Amino acid sequence: MPVGKLYIISSVAGGGKSTLIEMLLKKYPEIKFSISVTSRLQRPGDIVGESYKFISKDEFEELIKQDYFIEWAVVHGNYYGTPKKILDDWLGSGEKILLDIDVQGAASIKAHFPDCVSIFILPPSEEIWMKRLRDRGTDSPESIEKRIRNGKNELERTSEFDYRILNDDLKKAFSELEAIVISPITLD
Ligand code: 5GP
Repeated sequence: MPVGKLYIISSVAGGGKSTLIEMLLKKYPEIKFSISVTSRLQRPGDIVGESYKFISKDEFEELIKQDYFIEWAVVHGNYYGTPKKILDDWLGSGEKILLDIDVQGAASIKAHFPDCVSIFILPPSEEIWMKRLRDRGTDSPESIEKRIRNGKNELERTSEFDYRILNDDLKKAFSELEAIVISPITLD
């Protein structure tokens, strides 16, 4: 029976993770991307059903009760969760699956699937990270401050990850990501 492989990518907000994921999925369309469910409001640039499934806080809490998620967490004050069913289906059919989740989610998934590969994308420096976050123009000033505070806590947990990629040069960071996710099959 084929067994799929899970790859987790985490970062601080503004760490450049979304760009790297986009590049990877474009180059390797066979990789499945797990679309999370969230109670956060849609932001400019979000594509409904592609970035996230957007639902209300009440609806999210109902899904928690129904055991719909393999993991869920409150991130920057909103609910985010990974649907269980699609992940199980893909794993059962041997797919390579990418999860874009935070450090809490990464720890839960690692506990469920110890063989998963976790990758943390590090921003080049605190100064550049904060500038990127402020310049992307998608968050309110309060939301930016919250993401900086949370990001500092997340940066303290990067040793929990199997790999850390410094995103100081997009091309180099992408090659490193590619080398991890598209590694040749080894027989043991
Ligand atoms: P954003 O709102 O900026 O798209 O995402 C905020 C954070 O939530 C990011 O760190 C992202 O990786 C994380 N996130 C997105 N989906 C999930 C999920 O399903 N579970 C968890 N635990 N975190 C998620």
